Amino acid sequence: MIEQRAGAGAQGLEINSFGIGPARLDPAPAEPVRKTGYRPRIHPHSPTRARCSSCGEPAVATRIVDVPGPGLRWHDSCHDCMVAGFKLEQT
Ligand SMILES: [Zn+2]
Repeated sequence: MIEQRAGAGAQGLEINSFGIGPARLDPAPAEPVRKTGYRPRIHPHSPTRARCSSCGEPAVATRIVDVPGPGLRWHDSCHDCMVAGFKLEQT
């Protein structure tokens, strides 16, 4: 489970590298992720479980990204895309 909040910068680049249009992401509240009630977005038995922002598989992790223009958005990831994101961040 990933909880992270940071400025646009590198995360904006990561979103672009996945080919995600920020306008497709759900608007997110301006508060720390742990206070947002994010768990239904990623819980396996949640009826409102989010889909991976990149590929549409069920999400296992989520975070809030600050997208220049649209503003704060949820960035949901399935396991595979989460791992791919970590690999991108390390290079
Ligand atoms: Zn995915």
